Amino acid sequence: MHITEPARQTPLHGEYDVVVLGGGPAGLLAAASAARNGASVLLVERYGFLGGMGTAAGVSNFCGLHANVHGTIRQVVHGMTDELLDRMRALDGLNEPHLILGKIHAQAYDISAFKCAADGLLRDSGAGVLFHALATGMARGADGDVDTLFLETKSGRRAVRGRVFIDCSGDADLAAWSGLPFEKGDAHGGMLYPTLMFKVGNVDGARAQEAWKTIPALMDAAAASGEFTFPRRGAIVRPQKHDYEWRVNVTQLADADGGAADGTDAESLSAGELEGRRQIVQYLAFLRAKVPGFEQAYVLDIAPQLGIRETRRIVGEYMLTQDDVLGCADFDDSIGVNGWPLEMHMAGDVKWLWPPIPESRGYNQLPYRMMLPRRDAGAARNVLVAGRCASMTHEGQSAARVSGSCFAMGEAAGAAAALALKAGTLPAELSVALLQARLREQGAFLGGQD
Ligand SMILES: Cc1cc2nc3c(=O)[nH]c(=O)nc-3n(C[C@H](O)[C@H](O)[C@H](O)COP(=O)(O)OP(=O)(O)OC[C@H]3O[C@@H](n4cnc5c(N)ncnc54)[C@H](O)[C@@H]3O)c2cc1C
Repeated sequence: MHITEPARQTPLHGEYDVVVLGGGPAGLLAAASAARNGASVLLVERYGFLGGMGTAAGVSNFCGLHANVHGTIRQVVHGMTDELLDRMRALDGLNEPHLILGKIHAQAYDISAFKCAADGLLRDSGAGVLFHALATGMARGADGDVDTLFLETKSGRRAVRGRVFIDCSGDADLAAWSGLPFEKGDAHGGMLYPTLMFKVGNVDGARAQEAWKTIPALMDAAAASGEFTFPRRGAIVRPQKHDYEWRVNVTQLADADGGAADGTDAESLSAGELEGRRQIVQYLAFLRAKVPGFEQAYVLDIAPQLGIRETRRIVGEYMLTQDDVLGCADFDDSIGVNGWPLEMHMAGDVKWLWPPIPESRGYNQLPYRMMLPRRDAGAARNVLVAGRCASMTHEGQSAARVSGSCFAMGEAAGAAAALALKAGTLPAELSVALLQARLREQGAFLGGQD
């Protein structure tokens, strides 16, 4: 059943060259990069801070900044990402990189530092931001391109007009509303499972030591004895900057049918938040009972929202695949690289698949075409899509969804939008050589220069 709403006039908040939907890793860099390339930019974000899953979902750890290049781990995402990292370092909010599974580096950070550094990067780029603004719909112009984004704010409903839109919502909200093609899940509709992240405080770091190495075996023993049950194996429990504070990535949220909770379904999200907190209470009991150093630990923080790994992925001019990641693929239209392996959060476990180490280069290039929605007849032509909802298969997305590649995609999408407007062309018709030259000027590493 539906309720018919009365027609209404919506106040125009403003008109911009580029409107970016979502302020996660992709949206932050997209907005800053578009502004730095001369566009007037508005970034629209539903929360009161930037960082996306990196802050709102409590991730607190950058993956994908590094690659294992023939056995040597090195940073491969640069450009404006370096500026963000420098700002976080200046706030004493960025750890030194740490080794994951003996193969690659990740880099833990303080969530407040990410928020503040992101504010600074965006502000200094000249991009505007509207926080507490939930985008809920769009309108297309006579030419079929997206003309207006509609927002719900505390000031009421607002309209924002743009010439190019960059969908960095993580869920491809704008792309879906615009009728652009997308997929959800694997061949059976199964998506990567979400996790509600939390942190524990008051850990005795001296006793806990390298507990992340022993926790999996302790969990197996506790499960075998029937004392505790766990939603999944493959727990990631690691210290943050100070060893009395650890982040815990262990919950797994499913719907009643056993499939992954759906980040685009309000009821599924609601049930997931409740179940996530139930699992957190249980896991704390396990940590306190079984893990040396955690006897007096308490829940320091539960992330404001469920961590969503995968929902809609657009079908673009190219879809990044598992083979591309494992085979370290090259693309002529590279706009950056991904060095993270496949990290599949499946029912009850996490499965990892790596490019061969040390035989391989350890990273694949990211083609510009994965941010360009497929050009079906009548499709909107002024939308770019960057971040975890860009054009990747379910498997490819399990790798290139992490922060490093989202930063790279965002920076490229922002530059592309601004350059296309300057050149008076559509994003899909922009000279790739021009875009690549500009990204290199911004310090980005596009691969292939080794
Ligand atoms: C539990 C979990 C653990 C993870 N661990 C790691 C890790 O250790 N390291 C790592 O690098 N990556 C990790 N990831 C992956 C990574 O955090 C995300 O894939 C990445 O943040 C995606 O960036 P994005 O910008 O594409 O989207 P998101 O980070 O999802 O950002 C999207 C933004 O858009 C906003 N938004 C969405 N819809 C709307 C709307 N309609 N109106 C207004 N605003 C909107 C959201 O509020 C959000 O700020 C993890 C993810 C999860 C869920």
